[in-house]
Amino acid sequence: MTDYSALLSAIPAIRHGFGNKSALLPTDLQHYRDTQPEKRQVHGTRIVDVNQPAQACGDADGLYTAQPGILLSVLTADCLPVIFSRRDGSAIGVVHAGWRGLLDGILEHMAARIEQDDSTSAWVAAIGPAAGACCYQVNQELVELFQQRLSLPAKLISPQTRHLDLTAIAQYKLRNLGFAAVDNAGSCTICTLNHDPQQPQRFKYTSFRRNSHRRAQDPAHPGIKGRNQYAGIIITN
Ligand SMILES: [Zn+2]
Repeated sequence: MTDYSALLSAIPAIRHGFGNKSALLPTDLQHYRDTQPEKRQVHGTRIVDVNQPAQACGDADGLYTAQPGILLSVLTADCLPVIFSRRDGSAIGVVHAGWRGLLDGILEHMAARIEQDDSTSAWVAAIGPAAGACCYQVNQELVELFQQRLSLPAKLISPQTRHLDLTAIAQYKLRNLGFAAVDNAGSCTICTLNHDPQQPQRFKYTSFRRNSHRRAQDPAHPGIKGRNQYAGIIITN
């Protein structure tokens, strides 16, 4: 079952969804697949303005458009997808934010793009499935780097030793950046089990971390290439 944000579902002019192993690209967005811009996600902070279907964007971890009929998407497998929409659905955006993007300010870059001709207070944001604080163990140096560089409560960044809470960090930042509302539409990509009886797999989402552990035990196990899930949004009218 695709994850939807209640906030975004209430906006009639757009369609959106967060994919998973059952449908990497949510079924009701598949029709628009060919309109997606071409880009290479590099854990950077570059946001590209999209003006035409299938636009070549180069290296980009964020996309922005006010044009109807172009599906904006990012691919993730533990990194955090964030979908943005103006409250009237007249402009949209999407961001791929791993720990590096969050630290380097990709959410701030998207807010700056919006504020070029609008205010974030006219916009809402929805955070999708990502590695949860339950499972996302990193090294202590990285936790300390976050605590030094971001003026956020230390416990919010790391609710338990050596764990990072990417979703809480993003949520806090988005509220501080002035978004009217922020929704959390997904669960942990590493440990969430599949509850869809139509689907055979054990876990709901593709997870880079879980796959890496599996491959460490069994080098013949396939990688996740081609199995990242999409978070997508399109203005339909
Ligand atoms: Zn988890």
